Amino acid sequence: MARIGFVGLGNMGGPMARNLLKAGHQVTAFDLMPAALAAVSAAGAATASTAAAAASRAEFVITMLPAGKHVREAWLGSHAMAAATEPGAILIDCSTIDVATAREVAAGVGRPMLDAPVSGGTMGAEAGTLTFMVGGPAEAYAKAQPILAAMGRTLVHCGEAGAGQAAKVCNNMMLAATMIVTAEAFVLAEKLGLSHQALFDVASKSSAQSWALTSYCPVPGPVPTSPANRDYKPGFATALMAKDLGLSQEAAASVGLTTPMGAKAQALYQAFQDAGSGDVDFSGIIRALR
Ligand code: NAD
Repeated sequence: MARIGFVGLGNMGGPMARNLLKAGHQVTAFDLMPAALAAVSAAGAATASTAAAAASRAEFVITMLPAGKHVREAWLGSHAMAAATEPGAILIDCSTIDVATAREVAAGVGRPMLDAPVSGGTMGAEAGTLTFMVGGPAEAYAKAQPILAAMGRTLVHCGEAGAGQAAKVCNNMMLAATMIVTAEAFVLAEKLGLSHQALFDVASKSSAQSWALTSYCPVPGPVPTSPANRDYKPGFATALMAKDLGLSQEAAASVGLTTPMGAKAQALYQAFQDAGSGDVDFSGIIRALR
């Protein structure tokens, strides 16, 4: 069983750390919020008083933080985590951040580092069924596999540093545009007098089939577990989708590419968030489209 340092124990990191404990690993945790730390301590984690202390004497050190600036600051800035790690340690950042910062941090830490963002949301984090998309050296990935497998079901090694973040922004750009057009189609069906169930029964078995339709159907009824059935309580919050779309547009600009559908999706989700819907599930965009 491995010694693991874990920094960032919020909605995702908390349940991920608990799954590592369940798998028998020793976890030393740190979070700026005492309540987040107390929750994993109650599940059996040791607690550290600084991020650097959590990173020291660990074989694997994991961060699950909000954004790129937090990740840079934690590893290379005032929290000095990289300098505190043991020479043989493998560093894993599971946060969703911009590709450029992921590459900059990986190049600066002086240890093998993986960017390993996830999809699957808080439910996947609780259930240990996350998908990890991983960038970084193959040998570090091979060593980290059993650790990631304790928190997720699907692991994909996508390439060198930053490739995991690249996969994440591309995936979520596809998802956002698909959700918007799926919601538009349900609104059009309403206007044409076609029932939600009839459109679902056809599209879910036809060429328009998608995860947005069959797992997160934006109208109540056809998929009883979708957020539409609980007044769009997330699920996957609009604020997080808007953040990921912003990252996709930064990534596109960094290579001189325009992604017209991705840009439109970003504008629509940003407007939905600005209108006060940041904490609404992203399938709730159907309200704005109506
Ligand atoms: P969160 O805000 O619930 O948790 C972040 C935690 O990091 C907080 O507890 C905060 O106190 C802590 N933190 C911030 N700076 C710190 C520091 N310097 N040292 C120690 N702790 C620090 O966020 P979350 O929902 O857990 O998301 C984390 C990451 O996962 C984000 O990048 C997000 O985009 C990504 N993500 C979230 C979801 C989701 O559904 N919530 C799904 C996939 C990916």
